[in-house]
Amino acid sequence: MKSPSQTNAIDFDSAKLQRLGFGQQPPLLERPVSLAQLRQELGLQLQTSLEPQRILGLFFREIQRLVPLDALNYEHQPSDLRLQFGQRGHHSISYSLSHEGERLGELVFRRNQRFSDEEQGHLESLLSALLYPMRNALLYRAATQSALRDPLTDTGNRIAMDQTLQREIEMSRRHSHPLSLLMLDIDHFKQINDTYGHSAGDEVLKAVAASIKSQLRNVDMVFRFGGEEFMILLSNTSREAAAMVGERLRFAAQAQDYVAEGKTIELTVSLGCSTLLPGESAESLLRRADSALYVAKREGRNRLTMAG
Ligand code: GH3
Ligand code: MG
Ligand code: MG
Repeated sequence: MKSPSQTNAIDFDSAKLQRLGFGQQPPLLERPVSLAQLRQELGLQLQTSLEPQRILGLFFREIQRLVPLDALNYEHQPSDLRLQFGQRGHHSISYSLSHEGERLGELVFRRNQRFSDEEQGHLESLLSALLYPMRNALLYRAATQSALRDPLTDTGNRIAMDQTLQREIEMSRRHSHPLSLLMLDIDHFKQINDTYGHSAGDEVLKAVAASIKSQLRNVDMVFRFGGEEFMILLSNTSREAAAMVGERLRFAAQAQDYVAEGKTIELTVSLGCSTLLPGESAESLLRRADSALYVAKREGRNRLTMAG
């Protein structure tokens, strides 16, 4: 289940100092327990949640009754999950968690004081209590995430878009931050389908989505609005700043190489931009961006138009 990527040698001096009572262990949150007892308690506690953050938080807190730590880092790349508990520590032990070939993430224990062999053994034994709770939490996360994603372009779908738009409008009001919205539509996309076929069109769609995401800090704010149309939400972004982002997206989409049947496809996009007005609804904000996009198309495409 696990393999240490780094093993620390036993530090006899500090181990001895500790036996003599001079060790500088951080204060324990709760009284120490035996390994067997802790494993049993952990097994029960960790099953009570499907949230990786909560499961690992509990794990970090509880294992310190046996092995004091300064920090615990966790990373699961397939689901873009990174969690950190505590502060940094000089010494670290890393484990790669997996179950029947399924990757369950990388875990790093950190501490300023070296880990003894016994402590390392304890950590490895306690890790087994994480296996099923983390696997279930990751499965749950993948299921809820996929319900909100567009599988072709790996952007948010309409459900995610509606939720995020409502949330961002509330945040914008509460904090008096500007909120802008871009609608992006591929120019003459039908021609690409007609010339090269639907699956070549799909590849182009994917490439356009990738080019949009590559230009943005927060890729969670890109949504597939319709067939070949994307919506990008720009939180805390004024009209002027949104215009700059829009132009950047337009250039990036144009600069990207699209190849079908060995031929390079020339492609451009048009954009409409709106910025939330005081008291404005989500529908109205969307409608204004859409109207601006319509103007961009009418005026010749490959351009950005700002809503009035
Ligand atoms: P305009 O510049 O006015 O936007 O022209 P257009 O051809 O891009 O616009 P139009 O709305 O006429 O055509 C959009 C096309 O996008 C029609 C549809 O077949 C295609 N489309 C929609 N969804 C998908 C998809 O998932 N995959 C592929 N390959 N094509 C799609
Ligand atoms: Mg189009
Ligand atoms: Mg369209």
